[in-house]
Amino acid sequence: MRKNYGFWSLSKHKMLMECEMKWALNYYIAKRGEFESKPPFLQLAWRLKHLNSLFLLFGDFIHQIIEEEVNTLMETGEVLSDTKIRGKLSDMLEQSFRKSKNDLDLWHKDPKATTMLYEIYYDGGLGDNTTQLIKQRIDKCVSGFVHSATINEIIVKGNVKIMEAEKFRSFYVDGVRVVLSADLIYHDQDNDVWGIVDWKTGKQAQDDVLQLALYSMYLEYTYGANLDIMVTNEYLENGTSKSYVIDKYETDNLRNLVQQSAKRMAELEENINLPDTEVMGVFHKTENKERCDKCNFKAICLEEQKDMHINNFLQGVGRKKGKRAVKERDIVMMREFVRSGMPVDERVIDFLEESPYETEDSHRSKVERMSEFMIGY
Ligand code: SF4
Repeated sequence: MRKNYGFWSLSKHKMLMECEMKWALNYYIAKRGEFESKPPFLQLAWRLKHLNSLFLLFGDFIHQIIEEEVNTLMETGEVLSDTKIRGKLSDMLEQSFRKSKNDLDLWHKDPKATTMLYEIYYDGGLGDNTTQLIKQRIDKCVSGFVHSATINEIIVKGNVKIMEAEKFRSFYVDGVRVVLSADLIYHDQDNDVWGIVDWKTGKQAQDDVLQLALYSMYLEYTYGANLDIMVTNEYLENGTSKSYVIDKYETDNLRNLVQQSAKRMAELEENINLPDTEVMGVFHKTENKERCDKCNFKAICLEEQKDMHINNFLQGVGRKKGKRAVKERDIVMMREFVRSGMPVDERVIDFLEESPYETEDSHRSKVERMSEFMIGY
């Protein structure tokens, strides 16, 4: 078997299971769009790859804060404060939300350097429901962390040494380079037990144990075989935890999975170097629409997403002053679709190249031109 030239990870594997096209766009094709000389659809893919959903961002931020808090606790013994952590987390999310709302142009130029939320890009904002949900999740997860068994029974009461926290690491499973990022690895000095903790902000899932088995294999690979290892998932939202000792059956299953999955990835990678004009045609798109609904790349794959922006754009343009609803986001999307080769009337192209809000007169004349076009749309 040809070795895959990338790497294997559980999240990469899960994305492949979700949709081949998403996997290819996210891990390979989108990178080509980093440069302005590339075709517009690749540049769009590069931007979409960097969309961040509010809940994913929340997960990243809480992991960052947990790492800092655990380090401070180990170094100073300072008691954790729910209020301080909640405040910090809310501020970080608020800031990202504001950036996302106000820095569309910046994101457009350099999507890696600034944040754009999926909810703002596709839905225009956070609904009341999402805002409520995220507030509840902040409260529950912070409380779950502060009162977790790992903090209170292991770190505060035990005699532990933190070995590694949140470091990107890799090791080899039967010749395949596997990358992972375990949240916390400690060594219980009194009982000579190694512990790995994964802080979970979401619900319990079937493959949680698989991930822990991977961490366990990494420890044995790095620190030696036959270690006494305890792996734990801390489910922050409901304040529960589950610990396991991984056995041979689970590691054998994992080895098989890595082999099969890496083999499939290597087969697909054979097509990754096809020219820009051909590469999008060779990967399968999932037929499960629910997956597409939540996918960053839906502006590339789904016709109705393109239509949504076109309709918003045209309807907004046709409205009277004071009720204009053309959003900058829709104009940006329209520009991208047009540049990607979507056929539209020339007047739309002219309109897109100008600012719609310069003066009342210019707006009116643009509306007139657009109205003509809209009759035939
Ligand atoms: S929108 Fe659907 S088909 Fe396209 S990459 Fe995403 S999941 Fe796959």
